[in-house]
Amino acid sequence: MIRPIIAANWKMNKTVSESLDFVSRLMQLVIGMNDRQVVIAPPFTALYAVGAALKGSSIGLAAQNLSENKDGAYTGEVSARMLADAGCTHVIIGHSERRTIFGESNDVIRAKISMALQSGMQPIVCIGETIEERESGRTFDVIAKQIKEGLNQIETSDIKHIIIAYEPVWAIGAGKTATPEQAGEVHGFIRKLMEERYGEEPARRLPVLYGGSVNPDNIGKLMAQPDINGALVGGAGLNVDTFGKIISF
Ligand code: PEP
Repeated sequence: MIRPIIAANWKMNKTVSESLDFVSRLMQLVIGMNDRQVVIAPPFTALYAVGAALKGSSIGLAAQNLSENKDGAYTGEVSARMLADAGCTHVIIGHSERRTIFGESNDVIRAKISMALQSGMQPIVCIGETIEERESGRTFDVIAKQIKEGLNQIETSDIKHIIIAYEPVWAIGAGKTATPEQAGEVHGFIRKLMEERYGEEPARRLPVLYGGSVNPDNIGKLMAQPDINGALVGGAGLNVDTFGKIISF
């Protein structure tokens, strides 16, 4: 049985003080919730302060991105080592906004995963198809390519540190969620691909989260699907009361 993971991606929202207000409330809400892992992904500017506030708490701290390079002359970039030093336990990699707005390829994503693993952080690797890809019947091909090119070179010994988030691009920020059956079908496919590459046991233990307009009303049905092990939440993770309802699904 995989312990469910519920992660909030704040994207480019919240100042340091807004982040700290959220976290002080969230820390109260998670008291006694040992059967699930809660993770928050503030913007870079709030990571260190939030990491300090979270010391001793079970809440994970994720960055929303990292550099594929180790260190050096990369103006504006943030390395894996810096993020781990700031208190990050997780890092979101390959979010569809990074892929589409910033042109991240599967090769870049693979390099970023490697950097995160070397610094001891758990990558939350996002994959998912666009509406055109789904409507032209290419969902499984797209997912297979993203996994093959982005994930297949990970060592078997590292696979236990990986979290995958299936986020159909057409459901992100759209108020339109994949049905639990649609999501469950793709999650099952992802697990099968990972089983073919890494074997039954590692694939069985791999957390596969769903992301795309998750809210307090749909989380229960999504989590009832056998291959859905948690959620990556965008908009509904910005308000602590709403996020509190999602984490207590
Ligand atoms: C996301 O951006 O990862 C996401 C799932 O957003 P939302 O929940 O707002 O659809």
